[in-house]
Amino acid sequence: MRFASGLTVTLLSLVVSLAAAHAEDRKSGVEKLYILNCGEGVAGDISRWSPGVDEGKSKDFVDNCYLIRHAQGWFLWDTGIPDAVASMPNGLAPSDPKAVTWRRPKTLASQLEQIGVKPSDIKAMAVSHTHPDHIGNVEMFPTAMLYVQKAEYDWPGGDGQPRFKKEHPVTLLEGDRDVFGDGSVTILSTPGHTPGHQSLLVKLPKTGEVVLSGDAAHFKSNWDNRRVPAMNFNKDETAASMDKIAGVLTKDKAQLWINHDKAQRDTLKMAPEFYD
Ligand SMILES: [Zn+2]
Repeated sequence: MRFASGLTVTLLSLVVSLAAAHAEDRKSGVEKLYILNCGEGVAGDISRWSPGVDEGKSKDFVDNCYLIRHAQGWFLWDTGIPDAVASMPNGLAPSDPKAVTWRRPKTLASQLEQIGVKPSDIKAMAVSHTHPDHIGNVEMFPTAMLYVQKAEYDWPGGDGQPRFKKEHPVTLLEGDRDVFGDGSVTILSTPGHTPGHQSLLVKLPKTGEVVLSGDAAHFKSNWDNRRVPAMNFNKDETAASMDKIAGVLTKDKAQLWINHDKAQRDTLKMAPEFYD
């Protein structure tokens, strides 16, 4: 009897220590989120994004990247305008004068350095879509696992070229994805702006839940009025994706942070400050 209970205790302690080791492998939860300045620009004609509304009016745009510290490691959402634009005195002018002339007041590299993160520390990343103001620095992280919708990855570029380097490690998605398996960082498939556009739901311990829009909407008035930009790949899919995000905001009591909305970004803390 005495022997049996001793064995039971031994087995029990073995089970407990195995469970602890397992938990160490699968640490969960987001610890903090930094908003990085990944571009600032001026749009020539805002009606490009809101057909029939505000014709001929110019508007200031911003462009953000978001760096997330998860218990299992760093995750980067969007990479912004290429860092090389920082050295262009007049910025990067678009071929369509109604579009955005972008500048890079700060590089992504310098902002990572300021918070003590090396590019090689970032093991996983995702981009909302493959327009140039979102993928400008993907190859600063050549070994980071890239999460992208298959529909976006397979979408031929304007010149028929692939959207990403073939050798970049990639996980192709066909729908939503719980990145760390704990529900704290979830890629939401929100097609329409492009064939495989995606948004990101992040659960922060104190701030609560936030949806990072990508370009599901470009600024708040377009979101509030469900306006679809003329250049979008698919109008009906865009509208359905906005409904999907609205459902998440309601269900999870989440905030919507709109990537290009300057008025909203002016109210948010930028790196090196962070949200937890
Ligand atoms: Zn954009």
